[in-house]
Amino acid sequence: MSNHYDLISIGAGSGGLSAAERASAYGKKCAIIENKEVGGTCVNIGCVPKKVMWLAASLAEHIKNASDYGFNVTYEGLNWSKLIHQRENYIGGILDWYDNYLDDNNIDLIEGTAKFIDNHTIDVDGEQYTADHIVIAPGGFPMVPEVEGAEYGITSDGFFELEEQPKNVVVVGAGYIAVELAGVLNALGSQVTLMIRKGHFLSSFDNLLSETLTQSMLDADTCIQSNTTVEKVIKEEDGTLTLHCNNNHIFSKVDCLIWAIGRAPNTGPLNIEATDIKMDEQGYIPSDEYEQTNVKGVYALGDVTGKAALTPVAIAAARRLSDRLFNNMTDRKLDYNLIPTVVFSHPPMGTIGLTEDEARKEHGEAVKVYTSEYTSMSHAFVKHKQKTAMKLICVGSKQKVVGCHIIGPNADEMLQGFAVAIKMGATKEDFDNTVAIHPTSSEELVTMR
Ligand SMILES: Cc1cc2nc3c(=O)[nH]c(=O)nc-3n(C[C@H](O)[C@H](O)[C@H](O)COP(=O)(O)OP(=O)(O)OC[C@H]3O[C@@H](n4cnc5c(N)ncnc54)[C@H](O)[C@@H]3O)c2cc1C
Repeated sequence: MSNHYDLISIGAGSGGLSAAERASAYGKKCAIIENKEVGGTCVNIGCVPKKVMWLAASLAEHIKNASDYGFNVTYEGLNWSKLIHQRENYIGGILDWYDNYLDDNNIDLIEGTAKFIDNHTIDVDGEQYTADHIVIAPGGFPMVPEVEGAEYGITSDGFFELEEQPKNVVVVGAGYIAVELAGVLNALGSQVTLMIRKGHFLSSFDNLLSETLTQSMLDADTCIQSNTTVEKVIKEEDGTLTLHCNNNHIFSKVDCLIWAIGRAPNTGPLNIEATDIKMDEQGYIPSDEYEQTNVKGVYALGDVTGKAALTPVAIAAARRLSDRLFNNMTDRKLDYNLIPTVVFSHPPMGTIGLTEDEARKEHGEAVKVYTSEYTSMSHAFVKHKQKTAMKLICVGSKQKVVGCHIIGPNADEMLQGFAVAIKMGATKEDFDNTVAIHPTSSEELVTMR
């Protein structure tokens, strides 16, 4: 096999795979370089296993609520090993599918760690590869703080390796991964403390969402420990951890400490220093709106760029890049505005566009906000209630919808369709002119006053 390609992707995750797949559909000779599992973070240690755990946690909640609907069932715990076995089998099926997918698309898989030798040459275990176009998509990794005993904790990667359900868990972090892992473990019956450095979590989300979720988590007996940081971790003789925190707080008998304090770009092994490719101080590789780095023929996309770190973003950017490079679609690029996203919390939340604070800062008096808070029918007569809250943010005399924020049961499945309308420039009047679907929670969004 010749070592020169039309396109090489570094990283067989969401971005790298999609760039190669689209390029090969145009008849181009492609390779991907991967040093772990094909599928990358999303399939192996991200969205997919996380969603399986969230679905299991949601089932636990349904079982707990079922008796209020008259069912003769009680929640008697979870067979954790069975769940993990089923989850890994499911992921194994996806990985098998990838093998055929790469063969069918004539994409060469080069196994090993990619290191640049110069701007257009990559070394993998002593073998050198060149390409007209190189896509850098190595993703990121979870960070661990520099405190004594930090190694006794695990990260989201380690969470997916847990063979037994932990009993007493501390999750440290305020981002969506921290919130999601805390929610899953709590719903499955672990005692969970979510430890946050500042006053509240999900600070980049609209206040309505973070405040409603905070209340839901407290109602579900999650301990939220704000303004707290771990300063030292000690492993005791019985194997449990003791966390020494600021303000003299001590957490003892912790059997699982999860660091979810953020992710960093996976650029260390790339030997970028051997190239002219610019990297910022945090290790991200900046790329322009066409995913082009400062070096011609070298592109960066996905989590490594520090833009929106989401699977569909990496996929969409990668496909558009290959369309542009190999199918004469000269102006094809991803519009990074109005990206919808969901947090698989309990209850889930969906968000797109400006928060109320952002809208008021940008548009001042021209902002009109519609809010609704209620208990949906699914939770009307159960003991463990989950609230629903929604906010539409409109701007100008035409009341263009510039933000939509939803939390509540099924919010995860509600937002996608509304995102299409908002991306197309829908106004409040367009929402009002849409006949409601009854009885649903989504109908609230087209009947807000
Ligand atoms: C716990 C968790 C939950 C998440 N949940 C969601 C979600 O619900 N929805 C969502 O949209 N996103 C979610 N994400 C984010 C999503 O997984 C990422 O945004 C997405 O995977 C980024 O794709 P990528 O192609 O940039 O990188 P990745 O998917 O991380 O792929 C990079 C690949 O490159 C490989 N690699 C790295 N360096 C080298 C090298 N030098 N040589 C060879 N190979 C290399 C890595 O092994 C990896 O396989 C989640 C992430 C985590 C951690």
